[in-house]
Amino acid sequence: MLNRNLNALISGQTNYKRMKLSQIGEFGIIEKIIEPNFRKLLGENQFGIGDDCAIMELDKSLYQIVTTDLLIENTHFTRDKISAFDLGFKALAVNLSDIASMGGAPVATFLSVGFPADLEVSWVQEFMQGYRDLSEKESVPLLGGDTTKSSSQIVINVAVIGKVEKGKVKKRCAAKSGDIICSTNVLGDSAAGLRCLQNNIVDTEYAKHLIKRHNAPVPRVAEGKFLSQFKQVHAMMDISDGVFSDIKHILKASKVGAKIYCDRVPTSLYLKTACKENNWNKMAFSISGGEDYELLFTVEKEFFPLLKERFKQEFDRELFVFGEIIEGEQKVLYLDDEKEIDVESGFRHFG
Ligand code: ADP
Ligand code: MG
Repeated sequence: MLNRNLNALISGQTNYKRMKLSQIGEFGIIEKIIEPNFRKLLGENQFGIGDDCAIMELDKSLYQIVTTDLLIENTHFTRDKISAFDLGFKALAVNLSDIASMGGAPVATFLSVGFPADLEVSWVQEFMQGYRDLSEKESVPLLGGDTTKSSSQIVINVAVIGKVEKGKVKKRCAAKSGDIICSTNVLGDSAAGLRCLQNNIVDTEYAKHLIKRHNAPVPRVAEGKFLSQFKQVHAMMDISDGVFSDIKHILKASKVGAKIYCDRVPTSLYLKTACKENNWNKMAFSISGGEDYELLFTVEKEFFPLLKERFKQEFDRELFVFGEIIEGEQKVLYLDDEKEIDVESGFRHFG
């Protein structure tokens, strides 16, 4: 029923007023209403909606890549749970993470803001200090934007332009059966940090760490560039919505299936402690929790030991493996201790 409505909606036969956006969701809007209507306008060597960044040809050897993200107060953050400094840092970080996920280097950023008139000037100063802190760390200039008054909520939009060598760009569509599924770090810390904030658990050592990971995630730009050197690394994206949601994008784009070994999804000691002390479901954080902004990638199995060693030399950190790409239906088989489990209903129950 829903699909018939959607198809009719695109061809203009449906009564728009009878459907709410919540019925088709964020990806329904993008895939059914936005993307199909603009496909015909795509130029040669332009790849648009569907990956972490848009890709355009810059010259013979380089692609230009572009990403943009919007943060709205009370939807993506609340003023009482994140400092202005961290919010400035995070607004840029989530965009740099998309550049990282293509294996690119950021070239310039643009910042547009809507601020309510009663916002303190010092808040804006701190916000910009956070934005500048990460800009300096990644050596990327702010080249423009827009500043406007909003009625009550803070609205932040960042756009980043980057570049990547043509032969090195990593997309979501390149996963191959037999690849293993990896991440650049432990997962679930950010979602647990948000839970700590919501439950007012802020003073313990684990809470401080998890909240930091939520409020000021570090984009893995150097790691993305490092991984992009290797042709054995196939598909790549960043984890913004959680493995559970994000892996589906790789499967759909690459037309493959996957097995995820839930008990091998890496977690930090901080997350383990938080779950033990509060009786939380660790897997719900590590598998379905979002906003870690680590890189999720697939790589040829035989190459992984060497990649892991080289990564360790370069970053003094581990790479983690927790699944494999398989042929066939674009579905994920979730296994715990080698037994198949139904994580979807588990997470729905968890809420
Ligand atoms: P990410 O989480 O990596 O930022 P999103 O899930 O927000 O990516 O978006 C998925 C894809 O859809 C991206 O390629 C993005 O550019 C595109 N997209 C999202 N919203 C719009 C829009 N309003 N118009 C055009 N493209 C969009
Ligand atoms: Mg992304």
